[in-house]
Amino acid sequence: MNLRDKMHSEMASKALFEQAAGYALDYAQHINQRGVFPTQSALLNLEQLVETLPVDQGDAEQILSDLHNLGSPASVATNAGRYFGFVTGGVLPVSLAARWLTDFWDQNSALYLMSPITAQLEAVTERWLRELFGLPSQVVASFLSGSSMAIFCGLAAARFRICKNQGWDFNQQGHNGAPPIRIVAGDSIHGSVIKAAALLGFGLDNIEWVDSDDQGRLIQSKLPGLDQNTIVILQAGHVSTGSFDPIDAVCDTASQAGAWVHIDGAFGLWAAATKQLGKLTKGLEKAQSWSVDAHKTLNTPYDNGILLCSDREALVSALQLSGSYVNFSEHRDGMLYTPEMSRRARAIELWAALKYLGSDGIDELVYGLHERAVQFARELTLANFKVLNEVVFNQVLVGFDWSEESTAEFIALVQQSGECWIGSANWHGKAVVRISVCSWATTAEDVSRSMASFIKAREAVVC
Ligand SMILES: *Cc1c(COP(=O)(O)O)cnc(C)c1O
Repeated sequence: MNLRDKMHSEMASKALFEQAAGYALDYAQHINQRGVFPTQSALLNLEQLVETLPVDQGDAEQILSDLHNLGSPASVATNAGRYFGFVTGGVLPVSLAARWLTDFWDQNSALYLMSPITAQLEAVTERWLRELFGLPSQVVASFLSGSSMAIFCGLAAARFRICKNQGWDFNQQGHNGAPPIRIVAGDSIHGSVIKAAALLGFGLDNIEWVDSDDQGRLIQSKLPGLDQNTIVILQAGHVSTGSFDPIDAVCDTASQAGAWVHIDGAFGLWAAATKQLGKLTKGLEKAQSWSVDAHKTLNTPYDNGILLCSDREALVSALQLSGSYVNFSEHRDGMLYTPEMSRRARAIELWAALKYLGSDGIDELVYGLHERAVQFARELTLANFKVLNEVVFNQVLVGFDWSEESTAEFIALVQQSGECWIGSANWHGKAVVRISVCSWATTAEDVSRSMASFIKAREAVVC
């Protein structure tokens, strides 16, 4: 059979997709029984994937079965309840299922003409996000790969606006001779902000760093004088402590000075969608742009980041692309809001998550992560571990009095136990354990079971 006929028959017979679905559902069913991190032998088996590029056509069924046999055991069970490493998030069943369906659609979301359904759901989702976060009606959304990209686009929009206000068209005239732009940020800001600033050519030496307190919160009284040439970058959710910058007060100061405020709320912005944690993000509507991930706290599949921006003109101008074949419509044309042209229909998984959870369900999901983090901190303290941070959101930091080597040994033992997975961080010059509760799947029992592995590892390190 020639290649095309072979693929037509694979598409028509369903068997290949049923095979994949079978593996996937089997994986999901057993994810709680396996260790959180792959075993040594699963990792060694990955060597079998190192081979030369085949010349001949492969067998689809065999490829899938190899992938399942070698790949599934070598994946990290971030999707179950006991992964507390990086701020990752699990996946909501409805979002995952929506992804499966839309994968078959294989939509390109660049233009309405390329995918009316995506354009419509992007527009609906944009409105829902404004409502959830309490943002002004002119705010528009960009559906991007993640917060790194969202921060990049937010800062590009800010730059365009600041220059434009001074009669400088940044797209046309560029850097040389442009009005100088000041970047003001807390010294505990996320690395992706630094990356975006570097990529945009602001120059890291030009960032005006503001001291932060022992939780990593920018200290408002240390802010330099702000002006119309300034972009202030705030953080809603510190990647180690989960702390929030004083958004309300800084936004007021910035607004008086005419400065642009961007809030990096990759995982923490979702606090704004809860009743009890909303105080953490008080005043956020006074900023000009906000970056937030759906793939972390909201638990959509990757890659799902969002930029929200109150200045549509600046955003669209900063990201504009034109070409004789580009047909913009009366509807939402997604590429106007993103640097990419071709783009998968990720907003649909986000739409499915929002529609499924509703605002009450989002509150329950996000507050539930906080409750599990508080439980972790409580049980850690009861077991004589030292919790270093105020657990305001979903992050817990654990410190130790013993040597750095013992801390490393402790972390390795917990990780190797397969019972849970925790990360490490450097906090105020010392190695610490970083726990992030960010999956809907984590139960109170998961936390207690993980605690037991902590206690066991400590016994092994101490004796
Ligand atoms: C994860 C994270 C980012 C980067 O987001 P990606 O989606 O991984 O690009 C930025 N800021 C904070 C605070 C984060 O936690």
